Amino acid sequence: MLPVVALVGRPNVGKSTLFNRLTRTRDALVADFPGLTRDRKYGQANYDGFQFIVIDTGGIHGDEEGIDEEMAKQSLLAVDEADVVLFMVDARDGVTVGDQAIAEHLRKQNKKVYLVCNKIDGIDAHSAMGDFYSLSLGELYGIAAAHGRGVEQLLETCFRPIAEDYPDVIVPKDVESEELEHDEIDYEKLPLKLAIVGRPNVGKSTLINRILGEERVVVYDMPGTTRDSVYIPMQRNEREYVLIDTAGVRRRGRIGEAIEKFSVVKTLQAIEDANVVLIVVDARETISDQDLNLIGFALNAGRSIVIAVNKWDGLQNDHKEEIKRELDRRLGFVDFARLHFISALHGTGVGHLFESVEEAYKSATQRISTSKLTKIMEMAQEEHQPPLVSGRRVKLKYAHAGGYNPPRIIIHGNQVKDLPGAYQRYLINYFRKALGVMGTPIKVEFREPV
Ligand code: GDP
Ligand code: GDP
Repeated sequence: MLPVVALVGRPNVGKSTLFNRLTRTRDALVADFPGLTRDRKYGQANYDGFQFIVIDTGGIHGDEEGIDEEMAKQSLLAVDEADVVLFMVDARDGVTVGDQAIAEHLRKQNKKVYLVCNKIDGIDAHSAMGDFYSLSLGELYGIAAAHGRGVEQLLETCFRPIAEDYPDVIVPKDVESEELEHDEIDYEKLPLKLAIVGRPNVGKSTLINRILGEERVVVYDMPGTTRDSVYIPMQRNEREYVLIDTAGVRRRGRIGEAIEKFSVVKTLQAIEDANVVLIVVDARETISDQDLNLIGFALNAGRSIVIAVNKWDGLQNDHKEEIKRELDRRLGFVDFARLHFISALHGTGVGHLFESVEEAYKSATQRISTSKLTKIMEMAQEEHQPPLVSGRRVKLKYAHAGGYNPPRIIIHGNQVKDLPGAYQRYLINYFRKALGVMGTPIKVEFREPV
């Protein structure tokens, strides 16, 4: 599980700037799900070894009325899901009425809040910040989000009190330790953690009930917050599984109530914790940007995926063809992921999902020898020579596995770091085909002699 940090503050104080700095190029998940009105952005941060989920709550003026007030409340709901709240203010503006109103809201919530004074670059930070003590929200932190100044110290401070609860916050930067760790893991014997994710109403809970069998008495009303998924152990054939149910806290027969229980943080945590992610989409809505966002997020997190196109029942044939064409067009970037057309309601195709789940898990965890990887690399190089870089031919020397789940392939050679993107993609695809890797992203890294 990753800790969750929420960024709160008036528009223009620099929340997006900090969000982008923390998440870098990683995909942000923009929450415009039904039931969530405010434009919140969710991202996975990996900054200086700190790993966490960050939410940009969207701007709140603090002086909203009517509908706006309702939306501001929604935005503050994101605070509910967070372990740490960074309340951002603009050092150049001084304390505004809006800041005071937001501070008032935050004081009512029982949360750890850090008051972050942004834009301290090029001004007398000390005197500019002094003004904000009047908000009486404890200690002040000065940063310049645009330049990164003070950000690392801020993270160190705010993660210190929760470090014990989240031992994974600090990621080991040392690659060797990962390799060692893998050798001690027997993936075959571990239960396969399968997260079932998707937008509200695509049919996640119908599918889970179908997988578990009708006879199961479902009482999902478990204590806990909206952040917690339900973990359901099960056995199928010879294999132990744990289903991670993100569908919501609910009772059987009251399925429609789940919408307001939908939580992006819960979905992201489930992806983070899973080995394989089953992404459920609704055939009748083809595929939405949200679905693509979820897929992108899972792949960025290095997870294996299987895509289930649900509600495939009761569709006309030409409608089915049309849906398939649209899926082909939009899912081109994940042509290595298996696509299943299912009906959770009637059970059609549900059994076959597990073949792809097993295949994806195997692809992600299979051990690959150095000699095999080097052989494949040589074949790739023979079929298609690397280009010249500054007049010299790039030479690939050998390849070895640098980790699993997802597979990481390390290629050694001369000038390999200068290989153009197109050739890198060629290599990834070549490895994928030769190794028969399905459903899982492959990472290739390059090392040069020092
Ligand atoms: P948001 O509305 O709170 O998300 O604010 P933005 O991140 O969009 O930033 C608003 C403006 O402040 C933009 O023009 C940013 O370039 C600028 N800004 C953000 N951080 C800094 C900073 O550290 N220093 C300075 N000088 N400007 C900043
Ligand atoms: P969740 O919010 O993703 O858990 O979705 P639910 O499982 O609650 O399903 C939402 C609605 O879609 C319910 O009315 C289900 O009966 C319906 N539904 C689920 N699966 C199917 C399916 O395969 N075919 C059809 N036609 N409807 C389905």
